[in-house]
Order: sequence, then structure tokens, then C-alpha cells
Amino acid sequence: MRLLLLLVLIASPLAAEPPRLALPVDCTLGETCHIQSYVDIDPTDGALDHACGTLSYDTHKGTDFALPDLAAMVAGVSVLAAAPGRVRAVRDGMADVLYTEAEDLGGQDCGNGVVIAHPDSWETQYCHLRQGSVAVREGQEVEAGTRLGRIGLSGRTQFPHLHLSVRHEGRVIDPFAPDAAPGQCGAPGESLFETTLPYRSGGLIAAGFAEAVPDYAAIKAGTAAAPALGAKGPALVIWGFAYGSRPGDVMRLTITQPDGTTYLSTEAGIDRQQAQYFRAAGKRIRRGLRPGRYAGTVTLLRDGRPYDSRETAVIVR
Ligand SMILES: [Zn+2]
Repeated sequence: MRLLLLLVLIASPLAAEPPRLALPVDCTLGETCHIQSYVDIDPTDGALDHACGTLSYDTHKGTDFALPDLAAMVAGVSVLAAAPGRVRAVRDGMADVLYTEAEDLGGQDCGNGVVIAHPDSWETQYCHLRQGSVAVREGQEVEAGTRLGRIGLSGRTQFPHLHLSVRHEGRVIDPFAPDAAPGQCGAPGESLFETTLPYRSGGLIAAGFAEAVPDYAAIKAGTAAAPALGAKGPALVIWGFAYGSRPGDVMRLTITQPDGTTYLSTEAGIDRQQAQYFRAAGKRIRRGLRPGRYAGTVTLLRDGRPYDSRETAVIVR
């Protein structure tokens, strides 16, 4: 009896602990995926992320783990259970299409999704999974890391990503700041993630070369980067695709010729806050390019200081 009482005393404070969360996507943050949007912690009409940054939008109730383009989605990136639990609900069968405001989703904004119940009234929800990819069934016990499906484009989404919602007793919890008071940002607190997921206020998603300024649709599809170009043109263009801009940011684009000399170096100003954006710069080719490998660098600057950079290259024949 005494032992039992002791066990209960030891067990109860532990049982109230929130779940520790594993990364819910099988990709490398900052390389093959990025966090595009966090929980909106601002109770007013505005939007604020937990770090007092702008990576959120009004009433956003989760964390968005985004893929760089549709090609990455088609290649297939797994969605993983963030913690052990039991599958409470699943939905599959909705199409992977870019959401437009005209569309009525009938309340199914999450698209294809999975809800997992964890001990002590904690819950995680996984949204926008790829049609036909949901790999678990209602009532199934899962471990952290169990594959739930693949990142897709179903429901209310305009880019391929996983939306992860965390709830406790039905209340939305920001897993990056579970103890913060409503509206309080920048408070150093312990994240629910078991590994540190560094906060980045913005960054580059992709960079590449093309023979003309690419269509934004091609950049989002992942088809804008040419691996090789003809020496006769029509043009040599470098582009950068990025997220989380702020007014006053600068994107620096440079091209280096095969002999190491600079072919182009320019800066494009960013005048507003945008979730995602791209800039491109290039030169029309008049007399033909010297064949060889052209190297490109795209750098983002904020307050005059570089905060992200990508290298790219193209072979000119
Ligand atoms: Zn979301």
C-alpha cells in the first residue's frame, strides 16, 4: 500500500508533463524544408510569431513546415508522428490543388489529415497531406516517428507544407512557446521540441539560372532552374526565391564567369513584407557567352548585413 502510494506520488507530476515533440517531417530544416509560418500569438487583428517576428498571419493556429517546391512534394516527403499516441481521426481523398479564395472547402480546411491523441488531453493534428498518402487508421497506436503520410497540397494551402497544430485540453498551444502568456512574444521559454529548431525570421528557399526571368509558377513548381544554357542566349539570368521579407531587405545577385571575373553584380530592394517572393537579374546576350561553368550567389541582407546565402551554377555550352 505504501509502495503504491509512493508510486502514485512519483507518477502524477510526470504524467502532467507535456509531450516532447520530434520533428514531424522527414526533411532537413534550412536545407530541404523550412518553417514558413508559426502560431499567431497576437490576440488582435494583427499577427506575430513567438519570436516577435512576422512569420505568421492572423489566427494561424499551427506551425507550417514548407517544402521548396511542388517537385519536392512529388518526390515525396514523409509526415511523421511527433509523439507517441493513438490516432483519433483521419481523412484522405481530397485533391492536391492550390487553394483559391473562390473555393468552398466546407470546413475541411485541413485537407487530408491525421489527429493523434496523447496522454493528459494533449493532441497533435497534421494537415494538407497528399491525396492517398495517409498511412494510419483510426484507433492505431503510433510511436514518435511513425509515418503518417506525405506532405501534400490538400485543403486550404497555396504551397506544399505540413501544418502541425498542438492542442492541450482543446486549447491551441504554440510548441515553440508553450508557457507564454497570450500576446507575449520574445519570452525565452522551453520549446516542446526535443531538438532545437532554430528560429529564422526569413531566408532563401532556392536559387538558379535561367535564359529569361522565370514565371513565378515555374519557381514554385521547381522547374525554373536550368542546369545548362546555350552560349547564344537569349539572356543569362540568375534568380532567388525566398521567404519572410521585411521592407528594406535587399537581395544581392551575382554571377561569376568561368575565368573567375564578375559577369553581373546587382542588388534588388524589397519594399514590403511578404511570405514568399522572388527576384531575378540578368543580361541580354549579344555576341555569345564564353562556354564553361558560371557560378551564382544569391545573398539576403537586412539592415545591411547578410543573413542568408545560396550558391548555384549553370553550364554554358
Ligand atoms: Zn498552417
